[in-house]
Amino acid sequence: MASPTITIPPYTQRQEFPSIMTDITAPETAAAPPSLPPLHVLLAAPRGFCAGVDRAIQIVEVALQKFGAPVYVRHEIVHNRFVVESLEAKGAVFVKELDEVPDDRPVVFSAHGVPKAIPAEAQRRNMIYVDATCPLVSKVHREAERHHESGRAIVLIGHAGHPEVVGTIGQLPDGAVHLVETVEDVATLTVADPENLAFATQTTLSVDDTGAIVDALRDRFPNIAGPKREDICYATTNRQAAVKQIAPKADALLVLGAPNSSNSVRLVEVARGHGCTRAMLVQRAAQIDWPRLDKIRTLGITAGASAPEVLVDEVLTALRERFTVTVEEVVTATENVVFKLPRVLAAE
Ligand code: SF4
Repeated sequence: MASPTITIPPYTQRQEFPSIMTDITAPETAAAPPSLPPLHVLLAAPRGFCAGVDRAIQIVEVALQKFGAPVYVRHEIVHNRFVVESLEAKGAVFVKELDEVPDDRPVVFSAHGVPKAIPAEAQRRNMIYVDATCPLVSKVHREAERHHESGRAIVLIGHAGHPEVVGTIGQLPDGAVHLVETVEDVATLTVADPENLAFATQTTLSVDDTGAIVDALRDRFPNIAGPKREDICYATTNRQAAVKQIAPKADALLVLGAPNSSNSVRLVEVARGHGCTRAMLVQRAAQIDWPRLDKIRTLGITAGASAPEVLVDEVLTALRERFTVTVEEVVTATENVVFKLPRVLAAE
């Protein structure tokens, strides 16, 4: 049987720094015994790591090379246990709060962004810190600040308690940001001056749900300022578009990702909303609910922006033990976004 061609996106082919990503190779299709039932896999592309996650992981790896272990990381650098454990094995120590980090060790802040008080505290303690906030999240922070300086209150569309939302709210003084999660929240929102508002969004939301909330905001507050549509990033948008393409053709769909990964959970919702009711979030192949894949002929697979390709390969290997698998990669966009590392990590 011919091996399927699986395209590895260009940003997974980094050469400069040995990382968990450089070990990834496309799996060969092993000749399966004829008794195994056929399964056609629709592999979404783009899937998996985005440029912000790739950069955040590189930041920890380069910080370990530059400063030696341990390098502390406040919060999960990205929402994926496999990534976190891989970095722990290299000498990263993950903590919840800055006060768990000794003054004389470097600390990295996660890709989701942090409230301003966190780097301010690191500065006060003369610590070396590296901010791995995704540049697309930082852009939202700067926009919110700009609106605040112009005298506008900010309406932030996002999920309460998500680290990105905590970080964005923490860019401004208490009370400057109103959080809304749903269209219903917009209807009950109370603001001091309806003529002086701006909105911003979490970067990893559902494109469709957020569009409805933005429409409700514009209906209720016609003069509200904000981005043309929303602040949802290219990676979230592209991964949802790819899932919309494959979900109607799939009997079931697996999203590789963590339950606390917003963009991964959104991919499950998008698949269910586009005709694939058997869409499931799994962190590893070991979590697959095999009875739910019984008798299916076509399976969609994608991965959230913080899930490495090696986990997709692991799932394909597990499928090949149970099915005669053919893989079709469905490419709906190509991505070539790369973000530079922070200056503090530049070679001396
Ligand atoms: S999902 Fe988007 S905003 Fe989040 S790290 Fe990736 S590129 Fe940045």
